[in-house]
Amino acid sequence: VPGPVDKRTGMLHAGSILASWAGADVAGGLSKRLGLPVFMDNDANLGALAEMTLGLGGGAEVLLYVLLSVGVGLGIGIDGQVFRGAGGIAGELGHVVIDDMGPLCRCGNRGCLESKVSVNTLRDAMRDGHGPVSVKDFLQMALDRNIGAQRIIGAAAGQVGRLVGDLCNYFNPDVVLVGGELSAAGDIVLNPLRDSLRRYAIARARENVRVQRGARAADRAGSAVGREDRIASSGSAISGRVSCDSRGLRRHFLPPPATRLPGFERALRSPST
Ligand SMILES: [Zn+2]
Repeated sequence: VPGPVDKRTGMLHAGSILASWAGADVAGGLSKRLGLPVFMDNDANLGALAEMTLGLGGGAEVLLYVLLSVGVGLGIGIDGQVFRGAGGIAGELGHVVIDDMGPLCRCGNRGCLESKVSVNTLRDAMRDGHGPVSVKDFLQMALDRNIGAQRIIGAAAGQVGRLVGDLCNYFNPDVVLVGGELSAAGDIVLNPLRDSLRRYAIARARENVRVQRGARAADRAGSAVGREDRIASSGSAISGRVSCDSRGLRRHFLPPPATRLPGFERALRSPST
């Protein structure tokens, strides 16, 4: 899900894109309805997990998965495990304030990174010269060498790279993988991000870090679904569906929620009401 999940209860924290889901027992309700174990986690965390398990981050000691999409997130992988912090909030890169006088963010702060570099915000910046365009068309314009689209993405990637440079000072990663819709712009987003990272991280923290686009399957990491006997990934770049040791994967996921919301479960049982 595109929001932080409470590590203790397994429920979505308030302030996420899915505001109406906050406090609801989504995993428990779905599990009852499907008759299968259901685990819920933040999309960037699952991106990091997918990269470490199935993607380009195997063997990384410290992996940062930077998710650039409608939301901006960060998954932190340390020694093959997702680091969530004390309460599950770790990695809220999108809500680092970069402009005190910037637009109001859904988290209540002003000028968060996400409010500046969300792919929808970048797309909307094309409106003046080109009228309304879809995100897909915006990214294609950049790939087709539209100078305006490339500048919009380049400036955003520079902002992200500055913060990822800071993260290199904090975490000293060996791998930084970029995922999400914006990563489809390839080097148009990666090169300015790398330049900015090099500019702002200290030399020892940046010298051995590999920065590249993540495996495409992990772009949809939120839909990586753990089951008893297999993990099915929605992407096709890795292999579409991969069998592996489920017990090994299950230890990565959060425990089922401790509490229940009867109203939400009733709604799941009677979706028409
Ligand atoms: Zn915010």
